[in-house]
Formats: sequence, C-alpha cells, structure tokens
Amino acid sequence: MNARKTDGLRSQQGHSCRTYSRGVADLLVVEDDDTIGDALTAGLRAHGHAVSLQRNARGALDAVAGRAFDLVLLDLGLPDLDGVEVCRRIRAAQAGTVIVVLTARSEEMDVVVGLEAGADDYLSKPFRFGELLARVRAHLRRSALVPTTEAAVTSGDLVIDLAARRVTLAGTDVPLRSKEFDLLARLATDQGAAVSRDDLMADVWDAYWYGSTKTLDVHVAAVRRKLARAAGESGGRAPEIVTLRGHGYRLDRPAE
Ligand code: CA
Repeated sequence: MNARKTDGLRSQQGHSCRTYSRGVADLLVVEDDDTIGDALTAGLRAHGHAVSLQRNARGALDAVAGRAFDLVLLDLGLPDLDGVEVCRRIRAAQAGTVIVVLTARSEEMDVVVGLEAGADDYLSKPFRFGELLARVRAHLRRSALVPTTEAAVTSGDLVIDLAARRVTLAGTDVPLRSKEFDLLARLATDQGAAVSRDDLMADVWDAYWYGSTKTLDVHVAAVRRKLARAAGESGGRAPEIVTLRGHGYRLDRPAE
C-alpha cells in the first residue's frame, strides 16, 4: 500500500464517531469458519451494524485497502496467511480502527504477539455472542469518546492534544495507537498520582472487563518504547511511566 492511500484511510478516521453516533458502525469480520462467520455477520447486522465478511487474509487485506472500518473482528487462524501477520498489516493500513482478535489458540504467547502486532483486544473461542456484542459496543463507544474537559495536557516536553488525539515530544510526533493514546491521556490527566490497574482497564478498555489484564502491560510497554524513541530523536524530556507493583501505574513528570 502506498503512503497516499494510507493517509487517505487515516483521514477517514474522524468519520467513525459520526457514523456510530447514528448507531451504525462499519465492521469487518474476518473468519474462515463458515458457521462462525455467518452467525457473527447475521448477529451483528441484526443489531444494526454494517458488516462485511471476509473468509481469508487476502480478502481482508483487500477490504482494508479499500475503505476505513470502525472495528475489525479478526480470526487468528486463517488458511492463507498467519493471523498475526494479517493483524500487523491491517494495523499498518488503518491506524484508527479497533482490532479485536478472535483466537482458538489459548496460549498466552499468541495473545501477546497479537497485541504487539496491533490488536486492541482479544476474545478466546468459544465465546458467547452476547459477550462479543458487549465487547464490540464498549469499543465503539470508547472510540467515539472525545475527552473535551481540557484541550491539552502537558508533562515536561510532552504535549497531549486531547481534541486532535495527537502527541508530540519537543515538537516530534509520537505515533500512538488508539488505546495507547487513551492510556497515556488517562495517566497524564492524573499525573503524579497512582492509577490502579482496575481503573485503567475500566477507563481505557471496558468497565466489564473480566479477562487477563496482560493487554494493559503490553500497551504500557509500547507507550514507554515510543516515548523513549521520541526523546532520543528530539532531545526532549519525556515523563516516566512508573510501575507500582500490585497496584498500577503512575506518570511522573520528568525532572527539571
Ligand atoms: Ca479459523
């Protein structure tokens, strides 16, 4: 995919909020199992969503090259390409979409690799449709949320523009994914204060989260890495995300 096309898709991200406020979200289901794929598609359509179904990786990658989706449900076990690689490519094509990985592989490694490849969340098979629907709704609600109490939060040379959902460090862009942004913004809003894992999971992911919170640690690691990279490139001072064992995290302003 060329850079221009990627930019075009990125610029459509803003549409997702408006679309969903009308109650219709654009979903992509990628699932090679006919029974599951058809059931998911029918169920989600019955709940008012626009759903495209693709049964292999090639179809999915063509679909995301063509238009922006609000949310992608991605089966990791596809016949033509490794699901983690598909996840990586979907993320590269659409920075703003929510990717929920569906995995029959219960090994923690696959989940972590999937999250590192750009997934926002995962659901282990078998799952109940009601469970999936609740998760989809929570993600769509959250991606439509625009924190508007303040225009920007700063910490050292870091500027988090809440309205534009853009982060810069000493003028250098810090390219964060959607959940990474939400996580950093949440910590920065309470900087200097401890924020518990439960609060972070509830505020950034889903109030009814019941699964592993490994997702949180993977996202924290990614934000730390990106802040460090931006600090190295710009020479700016980045805040530090401190791990509070058995509790959560705290964002500390950089030392003067
Ligand atoms: Ca499969």
